[in-house]
Amino acid sequence: MPSDGSTYLDPKTALEHLKTYNEPDGLSVEDLMNDHLHGGLTYNDFLLLPGRIDFPASDVVTESKITRNVVLKTPFMSSPMDTVTETEMAISMALLGGIGVIHHNQPAEEQAAMVRAVKRHENGFITDPVVLSPTHLAEDVLDVKARLGFCGIPITDNGLLGGKLVGIVTARDVQFRDPSTPLSQVMTTDLVTASQGITLSEANNILRDSKKGKLPIVDSEGRLVSLLARSDLLKNQSYPLASKNPESKQLYAAAAVGTRPSDRDRLALLVEAGLDIIILDSSQGNSIYQTEMIEWIKKTYPQLEVIAGNVVNREQAASLIAAGADGLRVGMGSGSICITQEVMAVGRPQATAVYRVAEFATKFGVPVIADGGVGNVGHIVKALSLGAGAVMMGGLLAGTEEAPGEYFYHEGKRVKAYRGMGSLEAMEQGKGAPSATKGRSKTLDNAATSRYFSESSAIKVAQGVSGDVQDKGSVRAFLPYLHVGVQHSLQDVGVRSVAELQRGVREKKVRFELRTASAQVEGGVHGLNSYKKRLFST
Ligand code: GDP
Ligand code: GDP
Ligand code: 5GP
Repeated sequence: MPSDGSTYLDPKTALEHLKTYNEPDGLSVEDLMNDHLHGGLTYNDFLLLPGRIDFPASDVVTESKITRNVVLKTPFMSSPMDTVTETEMAISMALLGGIGVIHHNQPAEEQAAMVRAVKRHENGFITDPVVLSPTHLAEDVLDVKARLGFCGIPITDNGLLGGKLVGIVTARDVQFRDPSTPLSQVMTTDLVTASQGITLSEANNILRDSKKGKLPIVDSEGRLVSLLARSDLLKNQSYPLASKNPESKQLYAAAAVGTRPSDRDRLALLVEAGLDIIILDSSQGNSIYQTEMIEWIKKTYPQLEVIAGNVVNREQAASLIAAGADGLRVGMGSGSICITQEVMAVGRPQATAVYRVAEFATKFGVPVIADGGVGNVGHIVKALSLGAGAVMMGGLLAGTEEAPGEYFYHEGKRVKAYRGMGSLEAMEQGKGAPSATKGRSKTLDNAATSRYFSESSAIKVAQGVSGDVQDKGSVRAFLPYLHVGVQHSLQDVGVRSVAELQRGVREKKVRFELRTASAQVEGGVHGLNSYKKRLFST
Protein backbone atom coordinates (compact mmCIF):
# COMPACT_ATOMS: atom_id res chain seq x y z
CA MET A 1 0.00 0.00 0.00
CA PRO A 2 1.40 3.49 -0.87
CA SER A 3 2.52 5.53 2.11
CA ASP A 4 -0.37 8.02 1.70
CA GLY A 5 -2.80 5.18 2.36
CA SER A 6 -4.50 5.19 -1.09
CA THR A 7 -5.24 1.88 -2.76
CA TYR A 8 -4.37 1.21 -6.37
CA LEU A 9 -5.70 -1.31 -8.86
CA ASP A 10 -3.52 -4.21 -9.83
CA PRO A 11 -1.47 -3.05 -12.87
CA LYS A 12 -2.03 -6.44 -14.51
CA THR A 13 -5.74 -5.58 -14.80
CA ALA A 14 -5.13 -2.32 -16.73
CA LEU A 15 -6.25 -3.66 -20.08
CA GLU A 16 -9.26 -5.39 -18.54
CA HIS A 17 -10.13 -2.18 -16.72
CA LEU A 18 -10.55 -0.29 -20.03
CA LYS A 19 -13.82 -2.15 -20.47
CA THR A 20 -15.36 -0.26 -17.58
CA TYR A 21 -15.40 2.89 -19.75
CA ASN A 22 -18.36 3.30 -22.09
CA GLU A 23 -16.23 3.92 -25.15
CA PRO A 24 -12.59 4.32 -26.13
CA ASP A 25 -10.75 7.53 -25.30
CA GLY A 26 -11.18 10.40 -27.78
CA LEU A 27 -13.99 11.08 -30.25
CA SER A 28 -15.65 8.94 -32.87
CA VAL A 29 -15.80 10.52 -36.32
CA GLU A 30 -19.51 11.29 -35.85
CA ASP A 31 -18.85 13.07 -32.57
CA LEU A 32 -16.00 14.97 -34.20
CA MET A 33 -18.12 16.06 -37.14
CA ASN A 34 -21.50 16.49 -35.54
CA ASP A 35 -20.45 19.03 -32.98
CA HIS A 36 -21.85 22.03 -34.85
CA LEU A 37 -20.62 24.45 -32.22
CA HIS A 38 -17.27 24.20 -33.92
CA GLY A 39 -18.63 24.79 -37.44
CA GLY A 40 -17.09 23.04 -40.43
CA LEU A 41 -13.65 21.59 -39.84
CA THR A 42 -10.45 21.90 -41.79
CA TYR A 43 -7.64 19.35 -41.64
CA ASN A 44 -5.84 21.47 -39.06
CA ASP A 45 -8.79 21.42 -36.67
CA PHE A 46 -8.36 17.83 -35.51
CA LEU A 47 -5.93 14.98 -34.98
CA LEU A 48 -6.10 11.21 -35.00
CA LEU A 49 -5.27 9.48 -31.75
CA PRO A 50 -2.52 6.86 -31.75
CA GLY A 51 -3.32 3.13 -31.68
CA ARG A 52 -1.12 0.12 -31.02
CA ILE A 53 1.84 -0.76 -33.20
CA ASP A 54 2.66 -4.41 -33.82
CA PHE A 55 4.01 -4.23 -37.37
CA PRO A 56 6.67 -2.29 -39.30
CA ALA A 57 5.65 0.84 -41.25
CA SER A 58 6.85 -0.81 -44.44
CA ASP A 59 4.03 -3.36 -44.08
CA VAL A 60 1.38 -0.66 -44.43
CA VAL A 61 -0.57 -1.01 -47.68
CA THR A 62 -1.66 2.30 -49.19
CA GLU A 63 -3.77 0.81 -51.98
CA SER A 64 -7.06 2.61 -52.51
CA LYS A 65 -9.84 3.14 -55.04
CA ILE A 66 -10.28 6.39 -56.96
CA THR A 67 -13.19 5.25 -59.12
CA ARG A 68 -15.49 2.24 -59.13
CA ASN A 69 -12.96 0.25 -61.15
CA VAL A 70 -9.55 1.86 -60.70
CA VAL A 71 -7.32 0.99 -57.75
CA LEU A 72 -4.09 2.88 -57.15
CA LYS A 73 -1.21 1.60 -55.03
CA THR A 74 -0.63 5.09 -53.64
CA PRO A 75 -3.52 7.51 -53.07
CA PHE A 76 -2.00 10.50 -54.83
CA MET A 77 -3.35 12.53 -57.74
CA SER A 78 -2.05 15.72 -59.34
CA SER A 79 -4.45 18.51 -60.25
CA PRO A 80 -5.53 19.32 -63.80
CA MET A 81 -3.84 22.72 -63.76
CA ASP A 82 -1.55 24.25 -66.37
CA THR A 83 1.22 24.76 -63.81
CA VAL A 84 0.93 21.22 -62.45
CA THR A 85 0.07 18.39 -64.85
CA GLU A 86 1.31 17.86 -68.37
CA THR A 87 3.07 14.81 -69.87
CA GLU A 88 6.05 14.61 -67.55
CA MET A 89 4.01 14.93 -64.37
CA ALA A 90 1.39 12.46 -65.61
CA ILE A 91 4.00 9.83 -66.47
CA SER A 92 5.91 10.26 -63.21
CA MET A 93 2.78 10.20 -61.07
CA ALA A 94 1.62 6.97 -62.74
CA LEU A 95 5.03 5.29 -62.52
CA LEU A 96 5.15 6.08 -58.79
CA GLY A 97 1.72 4.62 -58.08
CA GLY A 98 -0.52 7.69 -58.34
CA ILE A 99 -2.09 9.41 -61.30
CA GLY A 100 -1.75 12.83 -62.92
CA VAL A 101 -4.75 14.52 -64.49
CA ILE A 102 -3.79 16.36 -67.68
CA HIS A 103 -5.24 19.88 -67.78
CA HIS A 104 -7.46 21.27 -70.55
CA ASN A 105 -6.27 24.87 -70.71
CA GLN A 106 -4.72 24.00 -74.08
CA PRO A 107 -5.89 22.93 -77.53
CA ALA A 108 -7.58 19.52 -77.61
CA GLU A 109 -4.91 18.09 -79.95
CA GLU A 110 -2.13 18.99 -77.51
CA GLN A 111 -3.99 17.47 -74.61
CA ALA A 112 -4.61 14.29 -76.64
CA ALA A 113 -0.91 14.10 -77.54
CA MET A 114 -0.11 14.16 -73.82
CA VAL A 115 -2.54 11.32 -73.16
CA ARG A 116 -0.96 9.35 -76.00
CA ALA A 117 2.54 9.89 -74.57
CA VAL A 118 1.41 8.52 -71.19
CA LYS A 119 -0.14 5.46 -72.82
CA ARG A 120 2.96 4.82 -74.94
CA HIS A 121 5.38 5.16 -72.06
CA GLU A 122 5.17 1.62 -70.75
CA ASN A 123 3.72 -1.48 -72.33
CA GLY A 124 3.33 -5.20 -72.16
CA PHE A 125 2.72 -6.26 -75.74
CA ILE A 126 2.88 -3.13 -77.88
CA THR A 127 -0.12 -3.86 -80.08
CA ASP A 128 0.27 -0.83 -82.35
CA PRO A 129 4.03 -0.49 -82.77
CA VAL A 130 5.50 1.99 -85.21
CA VAL A 131 6.48 -0.04 -88.30
CA LEU A 132 8.48 0.92 -91.41
CA SER A 133 9.26 -0.79 -94.73
CA PRO A 134 12.65 -1.69 -96.30
CA THR A 135 12.31 1.25 -98.67
CA HIS A 136 12.03 3.81 -95.87
CA LEU A 137 15.21 5.75 -95.14
CA ALA A 138 17.49 6.13 -92.15
CA GLU A 139 16.11 9.64 -91.69
CA ASP A 140 12.62 8.20 -91.16
CA VAL A 141 13.94 6.29 -88.15
CA LEU A 142 15.56 9.45 -86.79
CA ASP A 143 12.28 11.25 -87.30
CA VAL A 144 10.40 8.64 -85.22
CA LYS A 145 13.07 8.96 -82.53
CA ALA A 146 12.67 12.73 -82.47
CA ARG A 147 8.87 12.60 -82.36
CA LEU A 148 8.20 9.61 -80.15
CA GLY A 149 11.42 8.98 -78.27
CA PHE A 150 12.17 5.41 -79.38
CA CYS A 151 13.70 3.90 -82.48
CA GLY A 152 13.53 0.13 -82.20
CA ILE A 153 11.39 -0.34 -85.29
CA PRO A 154 10.25 -3.59 -86.90
CA ILE A 155 10.41 -3.65 -90.70
CA THR A 156 7.68 -5.41 -92.66
CA ASP A 157 7.41 -5.92 -96.40
CA ASN A 158 4.60 -3.35 -96.72
CA GLY A 159 5.62 -1.08 -93.83
CA LEU A 160 2.46 -1.94 -91.88
CA LEU A 161 1.53 -3.93 -88.82
CA GLY A 162 0.27 -7.25 -90.21
CA GLY A 163 2.84 -7.21 -93.03
CA LYS A 164 5.51 -9.92 -93.25
CA LEU A 165 8.32 -9.26 -90.79
CA VAL A 166 11.60 -8.89 -92.70
CA GLY A 167 13.90 -7.14 -90.24
CA ILE A 168 14.36 -4.67 -87.40
CA VAL A 169 16.29 -1.43 -87.06
CA THR A 170 17.55 0.19 -83.88
CA ALA A 171 19.45 3.36 -83.05
CA ARG A 172 22.85 1.87 -83.79
CA ASP A 173 21.83 0.69 -87.25
CA VAL A 174 21.29 4.24 -88.42
CA GLN A 175 23.96 5.99 -86.35
CA PHE A 176 26.70 7.45 -88.61
CA ARG A 177 24.70 6.52 -91.73
CA ASP A 178 23.77 8.86 -94.51
CA PRO A 179 20.16 9.88 -93.77
CA SER A 180 19.15 8.79 -97.26
CA THR A 181 20.27 5.17 -96.79
CA PRO A 182 17.35 2.77 -97.35
CA LEU A 183 16.54 0.62 -94.36
CA SER A 184 16.96 -2.54 -96.45
CA GLN A 185 20.72 -1.85 -96.28
CA VAL A 186 20.98 -1.39 -92.52
CA MET A 187 18.30 -3.56 -90.95
CA THR A 188 19.05 -6.71 -88.98
CA THR A 189 17.44 -9.72 -90.60
CA ASP A 190 18.59 -12.43 -88.21
CA LEU A 191 15.67 -12.13 -85.80
CA VAL A 192 14.59 -13.65 -82.52
CA THR A 193 10.79 -13.73 -82.59
CA ALA A 194 7.97 -15.36 -80.65
CA SER A 195 4.65 -16.73 -81.84
CA GLN A 196 1.27 -15.14 -81.44
CA GLY A 197 -0.61 -16.53 -78.44
CA ILE A 198 2.44 -16.62 -76.16
CA THR A 199 1.80 -15.27 -72.65
CA LEU A 200 3.45 -12.07 -71.53
CA SER A 201 5.53 -13.93 -68.94
CA GLU A 202 6.81 -16.43 -71.52
CA ALA A 203 7.56 -13.67 -74.00
CA ASN A 204 9.42 -11.76 -71.30
CA ASN A 205 11.55 -14.84 -70.62
CA ILE A 206 12.49 -15.15 -74.29
CA LEU A 207 13.32 -11.44 -74.39
CA ARG A 208 15.49 -11.75 -71.29
CA ASP A 209 17.37 -14.76 -72.63
CA SER A 210 17.78 -13.33 -76.14
CA LYS A 211 19.65 -10.28 -74.80
CA LYS A 212 17.97 -8.28 -77.58
CA GLY A 213 16.24 -4.97 -77.08
CA LYS A 214 13.01 -5.96 -78.80
CA LEU A 215 11.00 -9.13 -79.37
CA PRO A 216 8.66 -9.05 -82.38
CA ILE A 217 5.63 -11.35 -82.09
CA VAL A 218 4.53 -12.97 -85.35
CA ASP A 219 1.65 -15.19 -86.52
CA SER A 220 2.06 -18.58 -88.21
CA GLU A 221 2.65 -16.84 -91.57
CA GLY A 222 5.42 -14.66 -90.17
CA ARG A 223 3.27 -11.53 -90.10
CA LEU A 224 3.98 -8.98 -87.37
CA VAL A 225 1.27 -8.80 -84.68
CA SER A 226 2.98 -6.96 -81.81
CA LEU A 227 6.27 -6.05 -80.20
CA LEU A 228 7.88 -6.36 -76.78
CA ALA A 229 10.56 -3.94 -75.49
CA ARG A 230 13.30 -4.88 -73.03
CA SER A 231 13.16 -1.42 -71.50
CA ASP A 232 9.63 -2.25 -70.28
CA LEU A 233 11.00 -5.12 -68.21
CA LEU A 234 13.29 -2.64 -66.54
CA LYS A 235 10.49 -0.11 -65.99
CA ASN A 236 8.33 -2.83 -64.48
CA GLN A 237 11.15 -3.72 -62.10
CA SER A 238 12.02 -0.12 -61.23
CA TYR A 239 8.44 1.00 -60.59
CA PRO A 240 6.65 -1.76 -58.71
CA LEU A 241 3.84 0.58 -57.62
CA ALA A 242 3.03 1.85 -61.13
CA SER A 243 -0.62 2.53 -61.95
CA LYS A 244 -1.24 0.28 -64.93
CA ASN A 245 -4.05 -1.36 -66.79
CA PRO A 246 -3.75 -4.98 -65.64
CA GLU A 247 -4.08 -6.35 -69.19
CA SER A 248 -2.16 -4.00 -71.45
CA LYS A 249 0.37 -2.98 -68.75
CA GLN A 250 0.08 0.56 -70.07
CA LEU A 251 0.05 3.38 -67.55
CA TYR A 252 -3.36 4.75 -66.68
CA ALA A 253 -4.06 8.12 -68.30
CA ALA A 254 -6.46 10.68 -66.84
CA ALA A 255 -7.46 14.07 -68.23
CA ALA A 256 -9.94 16.84 -67.52
CA VAL A 257 -12.59 18.42 -69.73
CA GLY A 258 -15.41 20.88 -69.19
CA THR A 259 -19.10 20.34 -69.86
CA ARG A 260 -19.70 22.48 -72.94
CA PRO A 261 -20.69 21.00 -76.33
CA SER A 262 -17.13 21.46 -77.65
CA ASP A 263 -15.87 19.32 -74.79
CA ARG A 264 -17.55 16.32 -76.40
CA ASP A 265 -15.28 16.76 -79.44
CA ARG A 266 -12.30 17.21 -77.15
CA LEU A 267 -13.20 14.03 -75.30
CA ALA A 268 -13.44 12.09 -78.58
CA LEU A 269 -9.77 12.94 -79.27
CA LEU A 270 -8.73 11.97 -75.76
CA VAL A 271 -10.52 8.63 -75.98
CA GLU A 272 -8.89 7.92 -79.33
CA ALA A 273 -5.53 8.58 -77.65
CA GLY A 274 -6.30 5.89 -75.06
CA LEU A 275 -7.77 7.82 -72.12
CA ASP A 276 -8.86 5.70 -69.12
CA ILE A 277 -10.32 8.25 -66.71
CA ILE A 278 -12.10 11.51 -67.46
CA ILE A 279 -12.51 14.24 -64.88
CA LEU A 280 -15.35 16.70 -65.40
CA ASP A 281 -13.74 19.90 -64.25
CA SER A 282 -16.15 22.28 -62.63
CA SER A 283 -15.96 24.25 -59.40
CA GLN A 284 -19.67 23.61 -58.71
CA GLY A 285 -20.47 20.23 -60.21
CA ASN A 286 -24.16 20.02 -59.43
CA SER A 287 -25.39 21.38 -62.75
CA ILE A 288 -27.62 20.13 -65.48
CA TYR A 289 -24.66 20.48 -67.87
CA GLN A 290 -22.67 18.03 -65.85
CA THR A 291 -25.39 15.44 -65.26
CA GLU A 292 -26.20 15.48 -68.99
CA MET A 293 -22.51 15.14 -69.82
CA ILE A 294 -22.12 12.16 -67.47
CA GLU A 295 -25.11 10.42 -68.98
CA TRP A 296 -23.84 11.09 -72.49
CA ILE A 297 -20.33 9.82 -71.69
CA LYS A 298 -21.67 6.67 -70.04
CA LYS A 299 -23.72 5.96 -73.16
CA THR A 300 -21.03 6.88 -75.68
CA TYR A 301 -17.91 5.52 -73.94
CA PRO A 302 -19.09 2.93 -71.41
CA GLN A 303 -15.52 1.78 -70.76
CA LEU A 304 -14.44 5.23 -69.53
CA GLU A 305 -14.31 5.95 -65.79
CA VAL A 306 -15.98 9.29 -65.04
CA ILE A 307 -14.96 11.40 -62.06
CA ALA A 308 -17.51 14.16 -61.55
CA GLY A 309 -17.43 17.24 -59.34
CA ASN A 310 -16.58 19.30 -57.57
CA VAL A 311 -19.00 18.78 -54.73
CA VAL A 312 -19.01 19.47 -50.99
CA ASN A 313 -22.37 18.19 -49.81
CA ARG A 314 -24.68 15.18 -50.01
CA GLU A 315 -27.24 16.81 -52.28
CA GLN A 316 -24.68 17.68 -54.93
CA ALA A 317 -23.17 14.21 -54.64
CA ALA A 318 -26.56 12.52 -55.03
CA SER A 319 -27.23 14.22 -58.41
CA LEU A 320 -23.90 13.16 -59.83
CA ILE A 321 -24.08 9.62 -58.47
CA ALA A 322 -27.58 9.20 -59.90
CA ALA A 323 -26.30 10.43 -63.28
CA GLY A 324 -23.67 7.66 -63.27
CA ALA A 325 -20.45 9.12 -61.82
CA ASP A 326 -17.77 6.51 -61.02
CA GLY A 327 -15.96 8.83 -58.62
CA LEU A 328 -16.45 12.26 -57.05
CA ARG A 329 -14.01 15.11 -56.58
CA VAL A 330 -14.58 16.98 -53.35
CA GLY A 331 -13.57 20.53 -52.50
CA MET A 332 -14.75 24.06 -53.02
CA GLY A 333 -12.58 26.91 -52.01
CA SER A 334 -9.98 24.94 -50.09
CA GLY A 335 -7.24 25.15 -52.74
CA SER A 336 -4.10 27.08 -51.85
CA ILE A 337 -4.54 29.47 -54.81
CA CYS A 338 -8.26 29.80 -54.37
CA ILE A 339 -10.40 32.81 -53.45
CA THR A 340 -13.80 31.26 -54.13
CA GLN A 341 -14.99 31.29 -50.52
CA GLU A 342 -13.97 34.90 -50.19
CA VAL A 343 -15.52 36.12 -53.44
CA MET A 344 -18.52 33.81 -53.90
CA ALA A 345 -19.31 33.20 -50.24
CA VAL A 346 -19.84 29.60 -51.26
CA GLY A 347 -17.81 26.55 -50.29
CA ARG A 348 -17.12 24.40 -47.26
CA PRO A 349 -14.22 23.68 -44.96
CA GLN A 350 -12.48 20.73 -46.55
CA ALA A 351 -12.44 18.12 -43.76
CA THR A 352 -16.19 18.44 -43.26
CA ALA A 353 -16.80 18.39 -47.03
CA VAL A 354 -14.77 15.21 -47.47
CA TYR A 355 -16.49 13.48 -44.56
CA ARG A 356 -20.05 14.41 -45.57
CA VAL A 357 -19.61 13.43 -49.21
CA ALA A 358 -17.64 10.25 -48.52
CA GLU A 359 -20.11 9.09 -45.88
CA PHE A 360 -22.87 9.34 -48.50
CA ALA A 361 -21.05 8.27 -51.68
CA THR A 362 -19.40 5.15 -50.30
CA LYS A 363 -22.87 3.68 -49.69
CA PHE A 364 -23.19 3.60 -53.48
CA GLY A 365 -19.69 2.25 -54.04
CA VAL A 366 -18.51 5.60 -55.41
CA PRO A 367 -15.05 6.64 -54.15
CA VAL A 368 -14.27 10.30 -53.41
CA ILE A 369 -11.13 12.31 -54.04
CA ALA A 370 -10.21 15.02 -51.55
CA ASP A 371 -9.19 17.89 -53.82
CA GLY A 372 -7.28 20.94 -52.60
CA GLY A 373 -5.86 22.19 -49.36
CA VAL A 374 -3.35 19.36 -48.95
CA GLY A 375 -0.19 20.84 -47.54
CA ASN A 376 1.55 17.92 -45.86
CA VAL A 377 1.49 14.18 -45.13
CA GLY A 378 -0.78 14.69 -42.13
CA HIS A 379 -3.46 16.30 -44.30
CA ILE A 380 -3.36 13.29 -46.63
CA VAL A 381 -3.90 10.84 -43.77
CA LYS A 382 -6.71 12.95 -42.34
CA ALA A 383 -8.46 13.01 -45.73
CA LEU A 384 -8.13 9.22 -46.01
CA SER A 385 -9.44 8.78 -42.47
CA LEU A 386 -12.54 10.80 -43.38
CA GLY A 387 -13.26 8.39 -46.23
CA ALA A 388 -11.35 9.76 -49.23
CA GLY A 389 -9.96 7.23 -51.69
CA ALA A 390 -7.17 9.62 -52.67
CA VAL A 391 -6.05 13.21 -52.40
CA MET A 392 -5.58 15.59 -55.30
CA MET A 393 -2.70 18.03 -54.98
CA GLY A 394 -1.88 21.20 -56.88
CA GLY A 395 0.35 23.44 -54.81
CA LEU A 396 2.21 20.59 -53.16
CA LEU A 397 3.38 19.28 -56.53
CA ALA A 398 3.83 22.61 -58.32
CA GLY A 399 7.45 23.63 -58.11
CA THR A 400 8.71 20.11 -58.77
CA GLU A 401 10.90 19.45 -61.79
CA GLU A 402 8.06 17.58 -63.51
CA ALA A 403 5.60 20.49 -63.25
CA PRO A 404 5.31 22.57 -66.45
CA GLY A 405 7.25 25.82 -66.66
CA GLU A 406 10.78 26.97 -65.98
CA TYR A 407 12.36 27.81 -62.65
CA PHE A 408 13.15 31.44 -61.94
CA TYR A 409 14.39 33.40 -58.94
CA HIS A 410 12.06 35.43 -56.74
CA GLU A 411 13.56 37.28 -53.79
CA GLY A 412 16.56 35.00 -53.84
CA LYS A 413 14.56 31.76 -53.92
CA ARG A 414 14.34 29.31 -56.81
CA VAL A 415 10.66 29.06 -57.72
CA LYS A 416 8.17 28.02 -60.39
CA ALA A 417 4.90 29.72 -61.27
CA TYR A 418 1.76 28.26 -59.71
CA ARG A 419 -1.63 29.74 -60.48
CA GLY A 420 -5.28 28.99 -59.98
CA MET A 421 -7.18 27.94 -63.08
CA GLY A 422 -9.68 30.62 -62.08
CA SER A 423 -7.02 33.33 -61.88
CA LEU A 424 -7.27 36.07 -64.48
CA GLU A 425 -3.84 35.03 -65.75
CA ALA A 426 -5.00 31.48 -66.53
CA MET A 427 -8.34 32.60 -67.93
CA GLU A 428 -6.70 35.15 -70.19
CA GLN A 429 -4.15 32.76 -71.56
CA GLY A 430 -4.28 32.79 -75.30
CA LYS A 431 -5.49 36.36 -75.37
CA GLY A 432 -2.01 37.81 -75.40
CA ALA A 433 -1.40 37.57 -71.67
CA PRO A 434 1.92 36.10 -70.58
CA SER A 435 1.69 32.37 -70.04
CA ALA A 436 3.05 30.58 -67.03
CA THR A 437 3.82 27.59 -69.17
CA LYS A 438 6.07 27.70 -72.21
CA GLY A 439 4.59 30.95 -73.51
CA ARG A 440 1.90 29.40 -75.66
CA SER A 441 0.40 32.00 -77.91
CA LYS A 442 -2.32 30.12 -79.79
CA THR A 443 -5.91 31.07 -79.27
CA LEU A 444 -7.19 28.49 -76.88
CA ASP A 445 -10.46 26.82 -76.35
CA ASN A 446 -10.42 28.65 -73.08
CA ALA A 447 -10.99 25.93 -70.54
CA ALA A 448 -10.12 27.96 -67.47
CA THR A 449 -12.79 30.47 -68.36
CA SER A 450 -15.40 27.77 -68.74
CA ARG A 451 -14.66 26.28 -65.35
CA TYR A 452 -15.02 29.45 -63.40
CA PHE A 453 -17.68 31.43 -65.20
CA SER A 454 -19.53 32.03 -68.40
CA GLU A 455 -17.24 33.22 -71.15
CA SER A 456 -19.96 35.55 -72.35
CA SER A 457 -19.62 37.68 -69.19
CA ALA A 458 -18.17 41.06 -69.95
CA ILE A 459 -16.45 41.26 -66.59
CA LYS A 460 -14.28 38.41 -65.45
CA VAL A 461 -14.45 37.64 -61.75
CA ALA A 462 -11.32 35.87 -60.53
CA GLN A 463 -11.66 32.83 -58.28
CA GLY A 464 -7.96 32.17 -57.97
CA VAL A 465 -4.63 33.91 -57.68
CA SER A 466 -1.37 33.62 -59.53
CA GLY A 467 1.94 33.27 -57.74
CA ASP A 468 4.91 31.01 -57.34
CA VAL A 469 6.07 28.14 -55.15
CA GLN A 470 9.51 27.07 -54.07
CA ASP A 471 11.57 24.45 -55.90
CA LYS A 472 10.74 21.01 -54.47
CA GLY A 473 13.12 18.87 -56.53
CA SER A 474 11.76 15.89 -58.42
CA VAL A 475 8.45 14.14 -57.73
CA ARG A 476 10.49 10.95 -58.09
CA ALA A 477 11.84 11.77 -54.61
CA PHE A 478 8.88 13.74 -53.29
CA LEU A 479 6.13 11.18 -53.96
CA PRO A 480 8.04 8.31 -52.31
CA TYR A 481 8.43 10.65 -49.31
CA LEU A 482 4.66 11.17 -49.19
CA HIS A 483 4.15 7.40 -49.52
CA VAL A 484 6.53 6.46 -46.71
CA GLY A 485 5.14 9.32 -44.63
CA VAL A 486 1.60 7.93 -44.98
CA GLN A 487 2.89 4.46 -44.05
CA HIS A 488 4.49 5.81 -40.85
CA SER A 489 1.38 7.76 -39.96
CA LEU A 490 -0.92 4.75 -40.38
CA GLN A 491 1.50 2.75 -38.27
CA ASP A 492 1.08 5.33 -35.49
CA VAL A 493 -2.69 4.99 -35.80
CA GLY A 494 -2.20 1.23 -35.52
CA VAL A 495 -3.72 0.24 -38.86
CA ARG A 496 -2.07 -1.76 -41.63
CA SER A 497 -3.86 -0.32 -44.62
CA VAL A 498 -6.06 2.50 -45.88
CA ALA A 499 -8.95 0.03 -45.91
CA GLU A 500 -8.31 -0.86 -42.26
CA LEU A 501 -8.09 2.84 -41.37
CA GLN A 502 -11.47 3.54 -42.94
CA ARG A 503 -13.03 0.45 -41.38
CA GLY A 504 -11.61 1.44 -37.98
CA VAL A 505 -13.14 4.91 -38.32
CA ARG A 506 -16.53 3.49 -39.30
CA GLU A 507 -16.43 1.05 -36.38
CA LYS A 508 -15.40 3.88 -34.02
CA LYS A 509 -12.13 2.15 -33.14
CA VAL A 510 -9.96 4.83 -34.72
CA ARG A 511 -10.45 7.92 -32.57
CA PHE A 512 -10.07 11.66 -33.07
CA GLU A 513 -9.47 14.81 -31.05
CA LEU A 514 -10.40 18.39 -31.82
CA ARG A 515 -7.58 20.92 -31.74
CA THR A 516 -8.11 24.27 -30.12
CA ALA A 517 -6.25 27.28 -31.48
CA SER A 518 -3.65 26.91 -28.73
CA ALA A 519 -3.36 23.18 -29.47
CA GLN A 520 -2.45 24.09 -33.01
CA VAL A 521 0.26 26.42 -31.76
CA GLU A 522 1.53 23.67 -29.46
CA GLY A 523 1.52 21.16 -32.33
CA GLY A 524 3.71 23.39 -34.49
CA VAL A 525 7.36 24.21 -33.93
CA HIS A 526 7.54 26.84 -31.20
CA GLY A 527 9.92 28.56 -28.83
CA LEU A 528 12.98 28.33 -31.06
CA ASN A 529 15.14 31.27 -32.00
CA SER A 530 15.60 29.86 -35.49
CA TYR A 531 15.37 26.47 -37.13
CA LYS A 532 15.68 24.56 -40.39
CA LYS A 533 12.77 22.49 -41.62
CA ARG A 534 14.02 19.61 -43.76
CA LEU A 535 11.24 17.14 -44.55
CA PHE A 536 13.09 14.10 -45.83
CA SER A 537 16.40 12.73 -46.97
CA THR A 538 17.04 10.11 -49.61
P1 GDP B 1 2.13 -11.21 -61.62
O1 GDP B 1 3.52 -10.64 -61.78
O2 GDP B 1 2.06 -12.68 -61.71
O3 GDP B 1 1.40 -10.63 -60.46
O4 GDP B 1 1.26 -10.76 -62.87
P2 GDP B 1 1.36 -9.48 -63.73
O5 GDP B 1 0.14 -9.47 -64.59
O6 GDP B 1 1.69 -8.29 -62.93
O7 GDP B 1 2.60 -9.77 -64.66
C1 GDP B 1 2.64 -10.85 -65.57
C2 GDP B 1 3.98 -10.81 -66.27
O8 GDP B 1 4.08 -9.59 -66.97
C3 GDP B 1 5.19 -10.84 -65.35
O9 GDP B 1 6.21 -11.56 -66.03
C4 GDP B 1 5.57 -9.40 -65.19
O10 GDP B 1 6.94 -9.24 -64.90
C5 GDP B 1 5.24 -8.88 -66.56
N1 GDP B 1 4.96 -7.46 -66.61
C6 GDP B 1 4.30 -6.66 -65.73
N2 GDP B 1 4.27 -5.39 -66.17
C7 GDP B 1 4.92 -5.39 -67.36
C8 GDP B 1 5.23 -4.38 -68.31
O11 GDP B 1 4.91 -3.19 -68.15
N3 GDP B 1 5.89 -4.78 -69.45
C9 GDP B 1 6.27 -6.06 -69.65
N4 GDP B 1 6.90 -6.35 -70.78
N5 GDP B 1 6.01 -7.03 -68.77
C10 GDP B 1 5.36 -6.71 -67.65
P1 GDP C 1 14.30 2.10 -78.39
O1 GDP C 1 15.31 1.06 -78.09
O2 GDP C 1 14.83 3.37 -78.93
O3 GDP C 1 13.17 1.59 -79.22
O4 GDP C 1 13.66 2.56 -77.05
P2 GDP C 1 13.43 1.75 -75.72
O5 GDP C 1 13.23 0.30 -75.99
O6 GDP C 1 14.43 2.18 -74.72
O7 GDP C 1 12.02 2.38 -75.27
C1 GDP C 1 10.87 2.09 -75.92
C2 GDP C 1 9.75 2.47 -74.98
O8 GDP C 1 8.72 3.06 -75.77
C3 GDP C 1 9.15 1.25 -74.31
O9 GDP C 1 8.72 1.60 -73.03
C4 GDP C 1 7.97 0.94 -75.21
O10 GDP C 1 6.89 0.29 -74.55
C5 GDP C 1 7.54 2.31 -75.65
N1 GDP C 1 6.86 2.26 -76.93
C6 GDP C 1 5.59 2.65 -77.11
N2 GDP C 1 5.24 2.48 -78.39
C7 GDP C 1 6.31 1.96 -79.04
C8 GDP C 1 6.54 1.58 -80.37
O11 GDP C 1 5.69 1.71 -81.26
N3 GDP C 1 7.77 1.08 -80.66
C9 GDP C 1 8.76 0.97 -79.72
N4 GDP C 1 9.95 0.50 -80.09
N5 GDP C 1 8.55 1.33 -78.44
C10 GDP C 1 7.35 1.82 -78.10
P1 5GP D 1 -4.04 22.97 -53.79
O1 5GP D 1 -3.55 21.57 -53.86
O2 5GP D 1 -3.08 23.94 -54.40
O3 5GP D 1 -4.41 23.39 -52.40
O4 5GP D 1 -5.41 23.03 -54.61
C1 5GP D 1 -5.51 22.54 -55.91
C2 5GP D 1 -6.97 22.51 -56.31
O5 5GP D 1 -7.55 23.80 -56.29
C3 5GP D 1 -7.24 22.03 -57.72
O6 5GP D 1 -7.23 20.64 -57.85
C4 5GP D 1 -8.59 22.63 -58.06
O7 5GP D 1 -9.66 21.84 -57.60
C5 5GP D 1 -8.59 23.90 -57.25
N1 5GP D 1 -8.34 25.07 -58.07
C6 5GP D 1 -7.46 25.23 -59.07
N2 5GP D 1 -7.47 26.50 -59.53
C7 5GP D 1 -8.40 27.16 -58.81
C8 5GP D 1 -8.88 28.49 -58.81
O8 5GP D 1 -8.43 29.37 -59.54
N3 5GP D 1 -9.87 28.77 -57.95
C9 5GP D 1 -10.41 27.84 -57.12
N4 5GP D 1 -11.43 28.19 -56.36
N5 5GP D 1 -9.94 26.59 -57.05
C10 5GP D 1 -8.95 26.25 -57.88
